[in-house]
Amino acid sequence: MLEGLMMHQPLTISALIDHAERHHGDTEIVSVETDGTRSRSDWASIAANARRLASALEGRGIGLGDRVATIAWNNRRHLECYFGVSGGGRVLHTVNPRLFPEQMAYVLNHAADRVLFFDRTFLPVVKALRPKLETVEHYVLLGSRDEDALTEMPDLQFYDELIAEGTADFSWPEIDERAASSLCYTSGTTGNPKGVLYSHRSTVIHAFASALPDTLGISARESVLPVVPLFHVNAWGTPYAAALTGARMVLPGPFLDGESLVKLIDEEGVTLALGVPTIWQGLLLAAEKTGSRLDSLKRTVIGGSACPPAMIEAFRERHGVEVLHAWGMTELSPLGSVNNLKAKHLSLPETEQHALRLSQGRPPFGIEMRIVDDAGRPLPHDGKTQGELQVRGHWVLSEYFGAEPGTTLTEDGWFATGDVATIDPDGYLDIRDRAKDVIKSGGEWISSVELENIAMGHPAVLEAAAIAARHPKWDERPVLLVVPKEGESVSEEELKALYEGRVAKWQIPDRVIVLDEPLPRNATGKVLKRHLRDRFGDVLIADEVG
Ligand code: ADP
Repeated sequence: MLEGLMMHQPLTISALIDHAERHHGDTEIVSVETDGTRSRSDWASIAANARRLASALEGRGIGLGDRVATIAWNNRRHLECYFGVSGGGRVLHTVNPRLFPEQMAYVLNHAADRVLFFDRTFLPVVKALRPKLETVEHYVLLGSRDEDALTEMPDLQFYDELIAEGTADFSWPEIDERAASSLCYTSGTTGNPKGVLYSHRSTVIHAFASALPDTLGISARESVLPVVPLFHVNAWGTPYAAALTGARMVLPGPFLDGESLVKLIDEEGVTLALGVPTIWQGLLLAAEKTGSRLDSLKRTVIGGSACPPAMIEAFRERHGVEVLHAWGMTELSPLGSVNNLKAKHLSLPETEQHALRLSQGRPPFGIEMRIVDDAGRPLPHDGKTQGELQVRGHWVLSEYFGAEPGTTLTEDGWFATGDVATIDPDGYLDIRDRAKDVIKSGGEWISSVELENIAMGHPAVLEAAAIAARHPKWDERPVLLVVPKEGESVSEEELKALYEGRVAKWQIPDRVIVLDEPLPRNATGKVLKRHLRDRFGDVLIADEVG
């Protein structure tokens, strides 16, 4: 081999924050604190505090590779932990506070976290968890000294005092780019949560890819609002992509209701926001109520669950906001694909362009995708054949943290996602369902996502879930559960009529049940279909008997 004669510099998270400090030091970081106040900082001060934190952790004897956990909202101090913990060579374990307490204890023990940083909001949670935590030595409140909190936990430490022990003159350690940088657990709807251990290299390459114009388009001209939490898949990698490009960040703290978000977007001139569909549902309702046009907002990235076409249309028609529909998973850091058009699409009539924007889009360089049949054989990318989606790439896991080696991937090295999809010849991915949520009626498959998307097009529907109900003749038949918007009502006949002419007759739900409570969701906001199936799985059999 003739070796290339280029410098080898490790791709590290410390290099990202150094760059942001050096070239974008005065770019603002806005943060809504837990008490509702809004603080203003910048990349230079985030970087200096990150170094103070790294040196303070070193002072406490927390070693390279040791895990440091956070239970915190999207705010300035949490962002500093992102760079201070990982940049200093330790592993940032972001814990999802929406997990059940037993699951939180499980992940903190499984990760063997030595330090736990948390926001004031979570003091009661942490206090209750503490007797179960086997490895945590330092409990640190993300804030200044708080006497009330001290009476509740006498050995509590305070972030502001801790970083004051450190020095901003600290030099980052030299780290192998393959070293672990952060850890995030999947929500574990079945069994215990599983840990995905990202590396510096995978994180930096993911940041490069996610900032590209055909991906999220993050640049030094954007004000980015990650509504998606820093405690779940690194807020889809936005802190790293923002540091890489020098974007301005607006961090919403705990206030994720529609009205707070509309106000924040309008007052801070947010241009790009990222979050799951349920969050944007609240935002659209609030914008309607307050009359906000969301003038500054140009694009919103929606993923985590299928984005209903009606939502994409509402953003476009009412607010002139472009929706980038994205698909991803914790195991993929999380970005798998984003919907952006190609040049050849630009001459198509608008309605056709709009139709093309509905799917989960195509993968950026760095992710490869295939669909396979039950025997694992690759299927054609013709936009029609559906199969299980498998992926591989620079930022896809190779093993779950602590799992038996060799048990995570397929024999030929792909990660099986558990999603059922079609891929078209241009590479556009259409997620039809989770494999376990597909409705199998008389040997034919019905996509629950498609049924839900149609229901969400009804102006009075707030939430919808289609589930497989047991059926004596067809094995399974679709049943639709809907939650109407506040003060509105819908009837079964009206909803069934919506499906006429839009899906084949045999795909129309057998029953529509209107609920007066919100759909059950897991810690990452996904509808718990298993719970719904337990509750409503026998309604058709009951009908038959009745
Ligand atoms: P995250 O919630 O960050 O996307 P998770 O690992 O919790 O990551 O969940 C990943 C799963 O969420 C995917 O396997 C898929 O089933 C679902 N999902 C994510 N994005 C979409 C999307 N745009 N459309 C449909 N399903 C999606």
